[in-house]
Amino acid sequence: KATELGINTISLYSSELEKELLEKQMIRAKLSEALKNRELTVYYQPIYSLKDNRIVGFEALIRWFSKDLGAVPPDKFIPIAEETDLILEIGRFALRKSLEDMKNLGKSCFVSVNFSSKQFSSENFLNDIMDALEYYRFNPELLVVEITERTAMENPEYTSKLLEELRKKRIKIALDDFGKGYSNMEYLIDFDIDKLKIDKDFVLKMLETKRARSVVRTVIDLAHSVGATALAEGIENEETLKELREMGCEEGQGFYFMPPVPFERIKEVVERSYCE
Ligand code: C2E
Ligand code: MG
Ligand code: MG
Ligand code: MG
Repeated sequence: KATELGINTISLYSSELEKELLEKQMIRAKLSEALKNRELTVYYQPIYSLKDNRIVGFEALIRWFSKDLGAVPPDKFIPIAEETDLILEIGRFALRKSLEDMKNLGKSCFVSVNFSSKQFSSENFLNDIMDALEYYRFNPELLVVEITERTAMENPEYTSKLLEELRKKRIKIALDDFGKGYSNMEYLIDFDIDKLKIDKDFVLKMLETKRARSVVRTVIDLAHSVGATALAEGIENEETLKELREMGCEEGQGFYFMPPVPFERIKEVVERSYCE
């Protein structure tokens, strides 16, 4: 009986693993053509000031609509792109498209762009950003560079230096997925950051458990202690919004306000309720 169960478990496990491997291979094969085939685009999710529920900026989120695989979520393909230099090309595309779109919007909202670990540690990181800012004549103060807490902690000395460079150029810095990494508080004191983004996993649990609520409160206070503002992602309902506002969280994004949408939608939205 025990062996039977063992064998069944193993074969179930391996077929699932196989499926996953196959999927990965498929994504890897198609992804290299995605840019050339114009299958990649950027969606935007508005970021609101929680004080008055007005849009203050947008997060740029990449989307892949593959003609063979359908819509592939970034959580699936970004890690695969990270395994090769493809992420550098994809990242450059996301940055340039974001600046182009936001320039065309013609409002003084900020745009928050995600940078992967490999981009951040690439020697062209700063040059690529400066080139793009110059090309689109984009105000550097309206660009927020998002790196994850994990990326920041990979090489803290290097991170400190780069964040200083970004600051000199007046570019803003946000630590993304905050709470998911293994932060060393000492480094947080050294890093000169503008914003802490509280990971949606904590925010989504806020109404369920007291613990999640106090973790969120702690991160908001922590942000303020290091001179940064707090942004909560994953706001899905009014109660969460209310709690966050009472905790002194400055900014937020989430399905309660609006999901990520194509640029055309953003243009319409901004006509009605707009930033500034
Ligand atoms: P992230 O940077 O933490 O982005 C926030 C994610 O939360 C987005 O998922 C967004 O759609 C989702 N979200 C926003 N509000 C809510 C909500 O109320 N409820 C729930 N359940 N989810 C919400 P998305 O667009 O699927 O992106 C996933 C991740 O992929 C991003 O997480 C980011 O790490 C990565 N990513 C996306 N675009 C890029 C990019 O251009 N470059 C890089 N390097 N990574 C990217
Ligand atoms: Mg992000
Ligand atoms: Mg995030
Ligand atoms: Mg996240």
